[in-house]
Amino acid sequence: MFYTPPPRDPKAPPIRINLLSDTQTRPTPAMREAMAAAEVGDEQIGDDPTVNLLCERVAGLLGKEAAVFMPSGTMCNVAATLVHCRPGEEILAHETAHIIAREGGAHAALGGFQIMPLTGADGQFAPDTLRKALHPRSRYQPPQTLVSVEQTANIGGGTIWKKAALDEVASIAHEAGAATHMDGARLLNATVATGISARDMAAGWDSAWIDFSKGLGAPVGGALAGTAAFIDEVWCWKQRLGGSMRQAGICAAACLHTLDHHVDRLADDHANARALARGLSQIEGVEVQEPETNLVFFRPDGAGVPGSRMIAELNKRGVLLAVMDGRIRACTHLDVTAAMIEETVTLVREIVRGA
Ligand SMILES: *Cc1c(COP(=O)(O)O)cnc(C)c1O
Repeated sequence: MFYTPPPRDPKAPPIRINLLSDTQTRPTPAMREAMAAAEVGDEQIGDDPTVNLLCERVAGLLGKEAAVFMPSGTMCNVAATLVHCRPGEEILAHETAHIIAREGGAHAALGGFQIMPLTGADGQFAPDTLRKALHPRSRYQPPQTLVSVEQTANIGGGTIWKKAALDEVASIAHEAGAATHMDGARLLNATVATGISARDMAAGWDSAWIDFSKGLGAPVGGALAGTAAFIDEVWCWKQRLGGSMRQAGICAAACLHTLDHHVDRLADDHANARALARGLSQIEGVEVQEPETNLVFFRPDGAGVPGSRMIAELNKRGVLLAVMDGRIRACTHLDVTAAMIEETVTLVREIVRGA
């Protein structure tokens, strides 16, 4: 369903260019030093000073009262919906949302929620689409208690929700009595690309989180923010889900390091994504979605090479990519250089020519 590594010929060259996901980054030497030097305590009882510092930083960054450190972005989403909703209630989200397709059915399995998939271009639904999907409370229909968006919209192409649309969607939700949740796995990509602060982007959203293990390059972790009362309740679910940790300051130190050193450089990833898209679009028959951030979706079928064959051929040449929802997704990140992008374009051109 998601991604299974293709079988590799043992004689094939090792992977040199890893565009599979922005989760593929390795901790940098400076990050490892920060981790080794971290002051630690017991996160579960709230006395790990490095985790506490990280939570304060994230709460400030997102303009919320409090934040909690989580082992993954998925747990941020799951704990958030478990606090916002009760069994039988409905969450509204785009049909390509991570909470629908890529969290193992957690929201149904653990919460008993149903998710109403909303349609719209590029992973985003229009404010009007939300308006039409909302209905007055009645005994027949599920209570609609949460509206969720992804900033950026992953399967939508790493697209950025406009601030005005975010504000409008949030106010429609609130008027209907629903809470609002922002899956900000790549929120900082959006802030770097637009210059709009994370705090402003998340302003209308009752809960929001960022992932440190995507483009920011940390090995583990996300942090979920909201009101102090909301985060208290999230802590109950974190404990129930087995997400409370011990000397997690080791991991939090890596996350703090990313906030200090890896945010502005996301602009390099965006430039690399644009260069990749430009290069690919110059190959006849290759269809490329113009990237807004660090994700590049393309389809080489029109050039006579189906996506699955393209990734197999690239794999043989040491480039790792995957097909996702019918298109190839390439992610730029900390460990991807401009030279690797150029080489990838050259290899794709060579494969197309050979077809
Ligand atoms: C990766 C991702 C998540 C989940 O984060 P993990 O840290 O992998 O659990 C959630 N939402 C979106 C949009 C993502 O891209």
